[in-house]
Parts: sequence; C-alpha cells; structure tokens
Amino acid sequence: MSGQNIVVIGAGIVGATTALALQQDGHQVILIDREGPCAGASFGNAGVVINASCGPTAMPGIFFDVLRMISRPLSPFKIRLSYFPRALPWMLRFLNESRRSRVHANAKNLHALTSTAAAGWRALISGTELVDLLRPGGWLKVYESDASFSGSAFARLLMDELGAPYDILDPAGVQNLEPRLAPIFTHGLFVRDGLLISDPGKMTRGMVDLFLSRGGRLQKFTAERLEIGADNVVIHDQSDSLSAEKIVIAAGAWSRDLAAQVGDQVPLDTERGYHLMLPASNSALLARPVMSVDRSFVLSPQDEGLRLTSQVEFAGLDAAPDYSHVRSLIPAAQRMLPGIDTTEESVWMGCRPSLPDSLPVLGYATQCDRVVYSFGHQHLGMTLGPRTALITADLIAGRDPQIDLRPYRADRF
Ligand SMILES: Cc1cc2nc3c(=O)[nH]c(=O)nc-3n(C[C@H](O)[C@H](O)[C@H](O)COP(=O)(O)OP(=O)(O)OC[C@H]3O[C@@H](n4cnc5c(N)ncnc54)[C@H](O)[C@@H]3O)c2cc1C
Repeated sequence: MSGQNIVVIGAGIVGATTALALQQDGHQVILIDREGPCAGASFGNAGVVINASCGPTAMPGIFFDVLRMISRPLSPFKIRLSYFPRALPWMLRFLNESRRSRVHANAKNLHALTSTAAAGWRALISGTELVDLLRPGGWLKVYESDASFSGSAFARLLMDELGAPYDILDPAGVQNLEPRLAPIFTHGLFVRDGLLISDPGKMTRGMVDLFLSRGGRLQKFTAERLEIGADNVVIHDQSDSLSAEKIVIAAGAWSRDLAAQVGDQVPLDTERGYHLMLPASNSALLARPVMSVDRSFVLSPQDEGLRLTSQVEFAGLDAAPDYSHVRSLIPAAQRMLPGIDTTEESVWMGCRPSLPDSLPVLGYATQCDRVVYSFGHQHLGMTLGPRTALITADLIAGRDPQIDLRPYRADRF
C-alpha cells in the first residue's frame, strides 16, 4: 500500500497520536490546529491512564445522584441555567443510557478499548524519551465510609464481569500505599496497572515534536468548511484551503459541527472540567493519583505540582470559566492530605468531548469514505488516545482493527 495524503484536524492527544500512527504507516500527514498543539482538554487533565476502565458515566441511579449533587451548594455537577435547553436532549439520551441493559453494553464496549490502553501507549512511544513521562504505580480511589464504598458495588460488578483487575484495600492497606493520606478512609479501590502521565501537556506536545522530527507537518489552520470531492477533501478556513485524500476529524469537543457537514448529526456535548495547581513541593506527598470518591476530586502528583481536578459542568464551549467549585475544594484536599501547601499556582478549565453513552465516535463517516472520525473520548482521552489512533491507522491502511467498530459508529443514536 502506498502512502496517502492525510490531514488530521486537531492537535490534542487524539490528533497527535493519530498523526504519529498514520506517519508510522508511511502516509504524508499534515496535522492542523486552529491554535497550536494541545490547546484543549489534553493540556490540563489529571493524566491518569486507567487501563481496563469500564464504568460509563451513565450508571443505574444516576438521575437521583445528579439531583442530590445539584442540591449541594458547590456541587461537582453543574448545568448553567442558560444552557439547560441546549443540554436537555443530551441529558435525556444520557438518562436512557443509564438503564441496566445499556450500561452493561456500554461497559463492555468501553472495556474493549481500554483493556489495551497501556499497550497502546507503549506501542507509540517506546524507544523515545517520552516514556519518562509515563509512570507505573497504579490508580487509587478512596472512600470515607462503608456507605460510600457500597455505592461502588455496581461498578465493581461490571469490573468483575469483564475481568478488569482491582484490589480492595482496608484502612491499613490505604495507609500502606499512601502513608501521607489522613487516616480517614475506610476502603480503597486500587487499579494496579494504571499509569500516570506526569505532564499531559508536555506529553502531547512531545508527541507532536516527535511527529515533526520524523518529517510530519504542523500547520496553524482552522477547519471551517469541508468540501467533499470525487477524489479529495478540501478544508477551508477564512482565506485559505488544504486538500487531502483523506481527513481525520479529531477536534475533541469541537468536532460536532465538522461531522454535521459530512452528514452525521452526532449528540456530542462538552462536560467541562477544572484543575487547580498546588506547589511542586506537594507532589512528593503522593506516589500515584488518588481520587476522593466522597468529594469527587482527584489529586494527581504532576512534575509541575500537585494537580487537583474536578467537576462536570454543562455550559457549552464558549461560556467563561467559573473557578469557584475547584477553589472550594482546598479545605477538603487539606483534610485528605494534611501538611499540604495550599498556595494556588494556577487554575484551568477544559472541555471534555462527551457522548451520552461514554463511547467515542470511531470509524468512517456514514456517507463518505474519505472522512474518518476519532472524537468523543470523554473522561478518558489520555487513556484512549493511542489505542484509538492505532484503530484509525488500521482502518486507513485497510487492516483489520481486531475490534467490532459498530458500537462506535457516528449514526448509532
Ligand atoms: C479536568 C479534567 C480531567 C481529566 N482527567 C483525565 C484523566 O485523568 N485521564 C484521561 O484519560 N482523561 C482525562 N480527561 C479527559 C481528556 O483530557 C480528554 O478526553 C482528552 O484530552 C480529549 O482529547 P482530544 O484530542 O479529543 O481533544 P482536545 O485536547 O480538546 O483537542 C482538540 C483540539 O482541536 C482543536 N480544534 C478544535 N476545532 C478546530 C478546528 N475547527 N480546526 C482546527 N483545530 C481545531 C483545538 O484547538 C484543540 O487543540 C480529563 C479532562 C478534564 C477536563
């Protein structure tokens, strides 16, 4: 097979890994981004690679969980009132996905992607200096009471059904693993083969640099209008155009309008999330990322400091950030990790690209064999970027991706 001219739209983790995987197959690839590499959600996430993750966001009982959360003063879940009418169709689909039969199917299809997430990372970056940013050590969730641990029973049932490995820890087990945590946790759930990306922004940009060093091209370009021809696709911005034999739409939360131009109406919305950076002196306090399940936040020890991530906010792509919730979590972080330096170094908001069933959109556009989709990686884009990039490369090369791609089709809803 001879290489094709391919444009990848979006230089987040999904676009960067896709460009690398396509380049490895001998294609001539141009990676475009309207701002530059890593301008979106891939910059500021918690960096956890949750190998074998299989819990979709829509779980049985989510409706009542959301009602309970919304009634709290600084809720980790928020819908801005002005955005509610636009979010409503997505929410109704999301509720439909919380039926048990749908949850089992979504968990199975999520696990089919995540079960080889760590292997995907190794396939793309082994032998490069980027491996230094990928740390073993696992991923730990901690619970403050028997009641909150019981709340994870259904998620554990799914993990058992799918053979996703984990250990349950008692209070001594939690202390053993993370001695600096306050002794307030009754249970821990430890995913041993989870990895930590110790600087997601540096990793994503590093992948783009690797792609460039191997002869790839990066261009600042906004894909505004797509024109499908008989033997090419032309991508237009305000004043310029680019032509390619094939394109990959990997523009994260901004992919919906591009897919619509190719004839696919995809219910993609954004679950906005936040981070707050605490000084680097704190990073040594934890050996791995730890999630407080009761307060819905993650403390992730990053190279540049301790990163506190939290929140799901429905407010669309353009509303100004509201940092009040993430700032309100400082006392809870202090309670969890006594001795922490709580000086705020920076705050950030990013747009998770999410579909109601927690699955990405992968594969060829419904009506066009020149356009491939890879977007909608929701809470798991750092986990899934390399794995889905390898699937896209297989499809374009005409190889069998060794996975049934029907659950990820654009027209599944
Ligand atoms: C607070 C938070 C914590 C998270 N923690 C984790 C975690 O621990 N583990 C995990 O696996 N995932 C995590 N995630 C999810 C993860 O960050 C996302 O799923 C992932 O970054 C999505 O990557 P992406 O490449 O699809 O999108 P993005 O990183 O958003 O990239 C999209 C790119 O497309 C560009 N673009 C948009 N429109 C156009 C256009 N028209 N033309 C050209 N370019 C365009 C943008 O400029 C942007 O650079 C977290 C997310 C958040 C918000």
